[in-house]
Amino acid sequence: MENLMEKIVSLCKRRGFIFPSSEIYGGFSSCYDFGPLGVEMKRNIKRIWWDEMTKLHDNITGLDAGVLMSSKVWQASGHLAAGFADELVECKECHKRFKLDEIRQPAEKCPECDGVLTKPRKFNLMMKTFVGPVENESSLTYLRPETCQGIYVNFLNAANSMRMKIPFGIAQIGKAFRNEITPGNYIFRIREFEQMEMQFFVNSLINKKPRKKRETKRERNAKNWTPDDWFDYWKEERLKWYLDLGIEKDNLRAVEIPEKERAHYAKRQIDLEYHFPFGWKEIEGVHNRGDFDLSNHSKHSGQDLLYFDEESNKKYIPHIIETSVGVERILLAFLCESYTEIKGGRTKTTKAVKEVESVLKLDKRLTPVKVAVLPLVRNKPRIVKKAKEVYQLLKPHFTCQYDELGSIGRRYRRQDETGTFLCLTIDFESLENDDLTIRNRDTMKQERVKIEELVEIIKKKINV
Ligand code: ATP
Repeated sequence: MENLMEKIVSLCKRRGFIFPSSEIYGGFSSCYDFGPLGVEMKRNIKRIWWDEMTKLHDNITGLDAGVLMSSKVWQASGHLAAGFADELVECKECHKRFKLDEIRQPAEKCPECDGVLTKPRKFNLMMKTFVGPVENESSLTYLRPETCQGIYVNFLNAANSMRMKIPFGIAQIGKAFRNEITPGNYIFRIREFEQMEMQFFVNSLINKKPRKKRETKRERNAKNWTPDDWFDYWKEERLKWYLDLGIEKDNLRAVEIPEKERAHYAKRQIDLEYHFPFGWKEIEGVHNRGDFDLSNHSKHSGQDLLYFDEESNKKYIPHIIETSVGVERILLAFLCESYTEIKGGRTKTTKAVKEVESVLKLDKRLTPVKVAVLPLVRNKPRIVKKAKEVYQLLKPHFTCQYDELGSIGRRYRRQDETGTFLCLTIDFESLENDDLTIRNRDTMKQERVKIEELVEIIKKKINV
């Protein structure tokens, strides 16, 4: 679709999904605030991911570590060394900057204007801060650039307190900060974002095993899987997650990253990429981090982070399979995927039939508002009163909106534009029969239902 990004940016601002940070002061570099609908959608994404990880998978527990940690963590993790730096080149002609790994070629020419590029320079992405009243070397620390380090340093705490047995995982959602040097593409690359990361600890002593052709679910969670088996398993699980939430197969791909382009810690790396209007881009990374993290934390902290396997009576440093994704980045992917325009209009009740109507065909689990309650007209006090009663009835159960402004057709369109799944209309008949109409966003079909059965009917329709 032409200008899809412009349309999404405009919709998000106009309808309360995303606002530029500090807007009244002219904005603030590559930071964004999430508005009333944006925050609901973000919460939906996080809840679905959290439930998937901690409820639907065996043996995964949660954690919420702090943004601030000892700076020693970042020494051990390699972030303070050259490891967490982007290499940047600048075009001498048009002065555009590029991350070296983005242009993925021996960078001699500017991809935009063919101009000559500068030699690559390294930039560390960590945001500094000071803890306590004195600003010196010893009070210096960093806002975390990824959430997973909080998991590694709590690995034994979580394992021991929950008596977790390998293979097991720890899931975490939280803020991360990166002083990106080439931010952009709206909320795709920002400086403050939320990550959803799951670190899965596996037996590193199992290297090879003959794979059975068909495996039952129980066998799938068997203890005899190699780290590579787990890596493949998590790649498939994560792909399924996106498809289940409505991403088209053709817009999603898994790209295995060759050794020389991998992150410094990764033995294997797969980028899950989405086909954004600005090209194929990573939305999630699946990494086999080997023993890199726990070995380094063990070495730097002097603490024994070995896992004792009671069955084999052996101690080892587990290997880690990681799935790592940014909430804002996939929110953008879901918006791009679901934005639909219908030319000529589909709402015949307004004069605006010749206009283009837009519908956000979000999965019902993702959509910010599930149900809108609309009195047919707002100058009939009995209808308005009944609509407000319905709204009060539904509020404790679903994310609802009450709207009485404008013609009913306009209100349907407003709700369609933000993806509201069901619209309920209270009309004259409702006063007689104690019922109302339910309109489905995608089919636009309307059916009359009794108000006393409403909560159960809606629960069924949106599967909650
Ligand atoms: P990129 O190459 O795009 O900078 P990365 O390879 O550095 O990403 P990881 O360190 O693997 O990314 O982070 C895991 C996930 O966190 C990414 O797939 C992405 O969804 C998210 N993420 C990372 N950096 C940002 C950012 N600046 N803004 C929004 N999301 C981000």
